[in-house]
Amino acid sequence: MIDQKTKEKYAELALRTGVNLQKGQALLINAPIEGADFTRIVVRKAYELGAKDVHVSWVDDELTLLKYEHAAEEVFATYPEWSVKMQESFATNGGAVLSIRSTNPDLLENIDPNRIATANKAAAQALTNFRRYIMNDKITWSIISIPTGDWAQKIFPDDSREGAIEKLWQAIAKIVRVDQDDPIAAWETLNNTLKIAREALNERNYDKLIFKGPGTDLEIGLPKGHIWKGGSAQSEKGIPFNPNMPTEEVFTVPHKYQVNGTVASTKPLNYGGSVIDRFSLTFKDGKVIDFKAEQGEETLKHLLETDEGARRLGEVALVPDESPISQSGLIFYNTLFDENASCHIALGKAYPTNLEGGASLNEKELDAHGVNDSLVHVDFMIGSNKLSIDGVKTDGTIEAVFRNGTWAFDIS
Ligand code: ZN
Ligand code: ZN
Repeated sequence: MIDQKTKEKYAELALRTGVNLQKGQALLINAPIEGADFTRIVVRKAYELGAKDVHVSWVDDELTLLKYEHAAEEVFATYPEWSVKMQESFATNGGAVLSIRSTNPDLLENIDPNRIATANKAAAQALTNFRRYIMNDKITWSIISIPTGDWAQKIFPDDSREGAIEKLWQAIAKIVRVDQDDPIAAWETLNNTLKIAREALNERNYDKLIFKGPGTDLEIGLPKGHIWKGGSAQSEKGIPFNPNMPTEEVFTVPHKYQVNGTVASTKPLNYGGSVIDRFSLTFKDGKVIDFKAEQGEETLKHLLETDEGARRLGEVALVPDESPISQSGLIFYNTLFDENASCHIALGKAYPTNLEGGASLNEKELDAHGVNDSLVHVDFMIGSNKLSIDGVKTDGTIEAVFRNGTWAFDIS
């Protein structure tokens, strides 16, 4: 049984290594109502660490579904202004944001994809300013997950609800290393490994990467001045924090006009409550010109039609196949976990911080450097033990970066 002590360790890890909460700082928590017990532990520990004020914004899957089923069409075209103001006020006052994401992957499977697309777009538009605080690391923020019943049963369909929740707790505890005596020290080791990998890639400074695997033959150009990041990040005020728990990736910005070829997904993607699976995208000069999906093609189409930037890439990330998430053999239907099991790329907005000086550039300047902008940022998985990646330098030299899904050079 997952014990109280492990949950306490997880809460402390999220606050110290995750958002790195400072004395006197306010904290905004987005949490599933089903996880109220765990959330209360986090809140208590936050006050113990000196939080000024902690606000919890509860997420209730059942209420979300009721709204999608019954609210009038026009409700989905707007996002509540009070919610934008609430979130922005935490950000502008230097608060930290901790999001606990545990949504049922199939929650909206019977809802008209049009409604979902309209709602996603309205939320993204309304939160443009708030998102800048997050994507430019102006504040410290972190995303974690805890088990909830429907989600756990999606992963372990043959177990009872309680049994599935328990199994998912065990899996998550191992992956985020709270099963270890000193999880905070374990994360220091992990952050150090990711630092070695990103520094190796920054030093090699590739002009482009070539991905090859079943159904995949894709060339991704990298902008001049691109920076590989991974593990611990740093806020504008110089506070180190971990944006994602778990994390196993190093990532950078692809050139929005220099992506060519076809890429096949290797894991299902849970996009805003519906699943897109076994899909492929074909790019020309950075833009998706063709796509197909065995499941969720309509949802994929809506995603690609969100705006101009939704058809271009905003992230390329490398994750070796020996990642503990990959080794768990589970499909989580939750991007936070699945993206850290596998090499992935993202459609939509790029992180400006992945370009030298990028955080201070405006949208036009970012575009001139090949950095994509969009209302969306959606990661999907393209890695497997059959994936190989070559790095091409500006002088044309080709080096092996990944072979059989893992590092081709020594990163220890
Ligand atoms: Zn990523
Ligand atoms: Zn991403």
